[in-house]
Amino acid sequence: MERSLIDFSGKSALVTGGGRGIGREIALALAGAGADVAVSDIDEETVRKTSEDIKALGRTSLAIKADVSSSDSVSSMIAAFLETFGKIDILINNAGITRDTLLLRMKEADWDAVLNVNLKSAFLCCKEVARPMIKAREGKIVNISSIVGIIGNAGQANYSAAKAGMIGLTKSLARELSGRSITVNAVAPGFIQTAMTDKLSEQDKQAFIDNIPLKRIGLPKDIANAVLFLVSPLADYITGQVLTIDGGLVM
Ligand code: NDP
Repeated sequence: MERSLIDFSGKSALVTGGGRGIGREIALALAGAGADVAVSDIDEETVRKTSEDIKALGRTSLAIKADVSSSDSVSSMIAAFLETFGKIDILINNAGITRDTLLLRMKEADWDAVLNVNLKSAFLCCKEVARPMIKAREGKIVNISSIVGIIGNAGQANYSAAKAGMIGLTKSLARELSGRSITVNAVAPGFIQTAMTDKLSEQDKQAFIDNIPLKRIGLPKDIANAVLFLVSPLADYITGQVLTIDGGLVM
């Protein structure tokens, strides 16, 4: 039988925010390529559905209800993961939220919620998986940032700051963990069709699309494909990088 170029047989992966959208697509793509995959989410129902769909692909899976902005919740999540899988090869920090509004209207609570769920979560999850990955002398981490972390966006000061912070975190951890062959990279999606962007009016969506060189909205699959590459042996020599996946919007 011909082996796939990307084959994750024997690998175990954790995807946060895997109940829907980009996280769900990444989790299913990893499982489709042979990985055993745990998914965590704050929403128990959606994450259970993703996990069942992974099992239907013949892989081992675990659904974990977790709030990734809480250190206690993250500790329990990683403990549950390690109890089932024994080791962690791949971590995808994907969970995220938006609380968009202009600076003058932005409440401290909007700032804190977005920074905690998008950025602090990645710090907490990386910290928990670093020890087992260092011990194993291998591991792949991908942080899901955003193009607005690179170029900014009016009405998203909190979200852009969090996503820019993820890029700094990615580069620092790439340097810290490189001696143990652990790679840490970020992807920066552009405008991707999920519940997060469904909130936009049709007019706003069309305005975005008009500015995209490839003239279409991105799909969760477009992000999952790039993540699969970054956590595969094909990307063993790539660390500390930010890959924009945006139809050419930022170049
Ligand atoms: P979705 O809102 O569709 O999915 C995000 C998932 O994260 C949801 O399942 C959500 O649960 C979960 N989540 C929210 N808060 C927490 C928490 N505290 N702990 C655990 N899980 C939580 O978003 P997308 O799939 O669009 O986005 C995925 C990632 O990609 C995010 O980090 C986002 O910022 C990033 N991104 C998305 C872009 C886009 O255009 N869609 C563009 C650039 C980046 P619940 O269903 O309960 O809300």
